[in-house]
Amino acid sequence: MLASIIALDGPASSGKSTVGVLLAGRLNYLFFDTGVMYRAVTLAALRRSVPTADESAVTELAETVKIDVMPPLFNDGRQCTVLLDGGDVTWDIRAPEVDGSVSQVSAYRRVREILTDEMRAIAKRGRVVMVGRDIGTVVLPDAELKIYLDASAEERARRRHTELAERGIDKPYEEILAAIRERDRFDSSREHAPLKPAPDARIVDTTGLSVGQVVSHLLLLVKAVAIQPSG
Ligand code: C5P
Repeated sequence: MLASIIALDGPASSGKSTVGVLLAGRLNYLFFDTGVMYRAVTLAALRRSVPTADESAVTELAETVKIDVMPPLFNDGRQCTVLLDGGDVTWDIRAPEVDGSVSQVSAYRRVREILTDEMRAIAKRGRVVMVGRDIGTVVLPDAELKIYLDASAEERARRRHTELAERGIDKPYEEILAAIRERDRFDSSREHAPLKPAPDARIVDTTGLSVGQVVSHLLLLVKAVAIQPSG
């Protein structure tokens, strides 16, 4: 049997989402990118002029907003559709302003608890590729297969630069690299659920590998775990 729950973690722009959506497609599993939940709460705060530095106000927001993640509703390059209180925010949550504040929001303990509960409820249904930062360590420590994707900060900044350019956003490479380093630092050093591989995660360095090469490698890992039922 194949692993029913696959935890896929890694730093910003390590290719988790691109690779995760293809892996889920090949296995016919649900693709669930958990970062969208933190992004949606961050966007809600920005839209309502709630300062992201105000932990209790942001926590209250996380408790009250309704976030839904569904399969893509439009064929416009999206990997899933994200609804915030019923409105489609799939692209708005990718704005650089959200990038700049999301790490701060995701460092709040209670915000993480609220969103983690919602993630576990979805994982319970099984046949899911769940992508994030702390899926293997905190959200689903019992996942049958844990993968940690990595790549150098420079390679990740190049990928992000290309991705933004494709969407018509022109941001200097150096700025993107600095922002990625800052997010890495913040995500790895935060007190609650810091970014780090689970002790039993398979670490895959994607620097210099094509998306297709990474997906093939992950499919091999999925099959390798299937012949060792105890994981
Ligand atoms: O993956 P993405 O860049 O969309 O994630 C946005 C932010 O959400 C990350 O920088 C990280 O701070 C946070 N995050 C997290 N735990 C997750 C997923 C995302 O802390 N499981």
